[in-house]
Amino acid sequence: MPTRIAEGTATDTAEDKLADLLIVGGGINGCGIARDAAGRGLSVTLAEMDDLASATSSASTKLFHGGLRYLEYFEFRLVREALIERETLLSAMPHISWPMRFVLPLDREMRFDSSTPASQLLSRAMPWMTGRRPAWLIRLGLFLYDHLGGRKILPPTRSLDLTTDPAGRALKPRFRRAFEYSDCWVEDARLVALNARDAAERGAEILTRTRVVKARREDGLWTVTLRDCETGAETTRRARILVNAAGPWTADLIAGALQQAPTDRVRLVRGSHIVTRRLFEHDRCYFFQGQDGRIVFAIPYETDFTLIGTTDAEHADPDTPPRCTEEERDYLIGFVNRYLAKPVSAEDIVWTYSGVRPLHDEGEGSASAASRDYVIRLDRAGAPLVNIFGGKITTYRRLAETALEKIAEIRPDLPGPWTAGVALPGGDVAVDGLDGLIATLRQDYPFLTETWARRLVRAYGTEARGILGDAQAAADLGRDFGATLTEAELIWLMDLEFARRAEDVVWRRSKLGLRLSPDQIARIDDWMKDRRQRPASE
Ligand SMILES: Cc1cc2nc3c(=O)[nH]c(=O)nc-3n(C[C@H](O)[C@H](O)[C@H](O)COP(=O)(O)OP(=O)(O)OC[C@H]3O[C@@H](n4cnc5c(N)ncnc54)[C@H](O)[C@@H]3O)c2cc1C
Repeated sequence: MPTRIAEGTATDTAEDKLADLLIVGGGINGCGIARDAAGRGLSVTLAEMDDLASATSSASTKLFHGGLRYLEYFEFRLVREALIERETLLSAMPHISWPMRFVLPLDREMRFDSSTPASQLLSRAMPWMTGRRPAWLIRLGLFLYDHLGGRKILPPTRSLDLTTDPAGRALKPRFRRAFEYSDCWVEDARLVALNARDAAERGAEILTRTRVVKARREDGLWTVTLRDCETGAETTRRARILVNAAGPWTADLIAGALQQAPTDRVRLVRGSHIVTRRLFEHDRCYFFQGQDGRIVFAIPYETDFTLIGTTDAEHADPDTPPRCTEEERDYLIGFVNRYLAKPVSAEDIVWTYSGVRPLHDEGEGSASAASRDYVIRLDRAGAPLVNIFGGKITTYRRLAETALEKIAEIRPDLPGPWTAGVALPGGDVAVDGLDGLIATLRQDYPFLTETWARRLVRAYGTEARGILGDAQAAADLGRDFGATLTEAELIWLMDLEFARRAEDVVWRRSKLGLRLSPDQIARIDDWMKDRRQRPASE
């Protein structure tokens, strides 16, 4: 069993400690950089003002994808890098990421209102094609998608006859043809927690519920004031390099806590998702095109649900919590109902979530047109500052490598990249080895149901047995909080994955919030609070 990671808050750590890197932000970019840097021998402290992945990194569409639609914007660098990453990441974490097939129904009648560079080029070269995205153009895009990124594991694109294929059953009969292509699913919030955990096992200090309120350059170092968000206590830390991975707060941090002149602007674009009861019986995802030129996914989710998203809406202020508005909800419903044989209504929605994309503002027109690529700036006017702008979950590992390339300009002795090909905790299993893992887990722990074993393996991979220990019966795992969540699992999450409250467990380390009642969640919270207050030796 892995050793317990010391739970950190700002108040219980040494003030005179000098870190090589102090990272602001426990989203995917901050945690990815922390893991990479700690693995290269740097001493790292990461401060996250809430829970890990509490902001954008738990609110994504949860795809490791190249971004088929970015081809229309000629974003070939980004698409190529992301396509290569898909398979690198899949191999490093086959428990929390898996291949998915996407069904893209064709509609000859549909006319698009699109101003992408590709559609402008098409309408100049073939004016009669204005407002159309013909099948041959989509096939060309998918050909590029199949070949740009050196695909080895994922199967290629194929054509579907929707009149006979089961994927056609959920759709209106007028959809007769489709293309089917590959991308990957990822449990975004678990990805963040596992990066943080791996970073901690390599020596990084991970402080959650700890806000960076002030940082000043003094004598060639950073002096950073941290506030414990639970007690209000403040401590100071010193660091050689400050990394600003504050996502939607990146620009605010520069102008506020750091008191620096902003070099770049961040554009905040909200994206919302709705979750319904399961809408179709197969395990493939739909890629729907809309008349506004946008696309929306309908994805099988958590076995019994369907995830539909997303939107692109301007969001004024990072401190305003993003919520799915009624307008966004109705937009998503209207979008998918153009395709689905059995229409969805607001009553079918069981949950919604919303996040804010922190995009690098390059002055593009619409929110959909804003680039999803990342920009990393190294500011050496005194103690070094690394600012991260933009990025995708899919490119987080490459973003971390690029950030460390910048840091190597200051620390030329830094060892080279190492994260490609190194499994995240629990991910040391073959991409097609999950069913075998579930079967052996059930053999060794016969009291596990298939659903329970699958959930544990999908969350913890080869480490699932670390939670189960020498249990002979479910009762040996302690109290049952509902939906197969036991005391043993809560202890694991608190000791090794930085969970402090029920919401961390039921909405980020898992999605059991979809199955637990508010009362059950309150009981988990009480238990966790009680355990936090107990002396560590108990
Ligand atoms: C709707 C939507 C769908 C998306 N879908 C996909 C997808 O399918 N695939 C994909 O690859 N990407 C997707 N993305 C993009 C991806 O989610 C983001 O690029 C990524 O999560 C950004 O991570 P981050 O670490 O930069 O920001 P965040 O996850 O927001 O992390 C920043 C953290 O900094 C903390 N922080 C801020 N200020 C301070 C401070 N002063 N002190 C301490 N902590 C602080 C915040 O609390 C926050 O947790 C999507 C994004 C959205 C919004």
